Amino acid sequence: MKKIGLTTTVPIEIWMAGGYLPVDLNNIFVTSANYQKYIELAERDGFPKSICAWIKGLYGVCVDEDIKDIVGVIGGDCSNTKALVDLLEYKGINIFEFSYPYTRQKEDIKKEMDKIMKQLKVSAKEVEKIRIQLNEVRSIANELDVMTYKQDKLTGFENHLILVNCSDFEGDVQEYKKYLLNKKDEAAKREKIQSSIRLGYIGVPPMTADLYDYTETLDSRVVYNEVQREFAFPRHILAKDIYEQYLDYTYPYDSKFRIEEIKKQIEIRKLDGLIHYTQAFCHRAIDDIIIKANLDIPVINIEGDQQNSLDARTKLRLEAFIDMLKDMKEQ
Ligand code: SF4
Repeated sequence: MKKIGLTTTVPIEIWMAGGYLPVDLNNIFVTSANYQKYIELAERDGFPKSICAWIKGLYGVCVDEDIKDIVGVIGGDCSNTKALVDLLEYKGINIFEFSYPYTRQKEDIKKEMDKIMKQLKVSAKEVEKIRIQLNEVRSIANELDVMTYKQDKLTGFENHLILVNCSDFEGDVQEYKKYLLNKKDEAAKREKIQSSIRLGYIGVPPMTADLYDYTETLDSRVVYNEVQREFAFPRHILAKDIYEQYLDYTYPYDSKFRIEEIKKQIEIRKLDGLIHYTQAFCHRAIDDIIIKANLDIPVINIEGDQQNSLDARTKLRLEAFIDMLKDMKEQ
């Protein structure tokens, strides 16, 4: 099957109906033991220091892994993607341009999706069939998410991994479904995880995934992974069709819509504080201003760059933040 590289979550149902196998380039980059080689490859080809590590990593993966086709999301995701896509096209990679409309109107997202369906010569009916199959698997991922915060059965890192991989189901939907079902059975038999402080993680998935284990050494646990959860479409049951499903996906639209959902989850999951992760040189760091102004619980902003583990200063800041949450809770 021909691979289609993804730079972010997109309606993969359409490409799958067209015979493509979606591969999330972010996951290849961040899980590689030698992830720095992708960044170095981009910098050798001329990427400046002041461009985010994810963009360089995505470029490096495309070139090094000989990816021939990618979906370039030029609206609603990342302001750097347009330039990345231009460069990759110049390098001979075939680009499917897709945009999440700023308006968040059904007719606008329909236009975008129908354009791709036409390009791939697939019908809405074929796409819908795949959407139903994928939503079955997404439902299991969402059940595991509920087991994380309601039954305290999963760690923050497990929750992150299960949800983030719903962007491409690790390249094999049926195998991923089996993995999730086994995980569900195994987790149900576990003892509850005890931790005094319940944290939420918001923002792009981290380069520094060790933050989950680190917070757990401090008697706290992440029980909400905002963007990763959106990758698993937790409200898909409410969508009548693929257009509505991808309209009800908070990440690519305005922050008001996103913050409403975060507020709901703060209540439901009884969160004590939030970690807002931003990436160095990312425009999304500006969101921190709106987030802090609109949320009523303590928020710490931590920034990652090219390293895939927390530095000493960030560890110290997290420790002080969690100590403060404990003091607040005791009071
Ligand atoms: S972290 Fe920000 S700049 Fe980097 S790829 Fe993601 S959205 Fe773009």
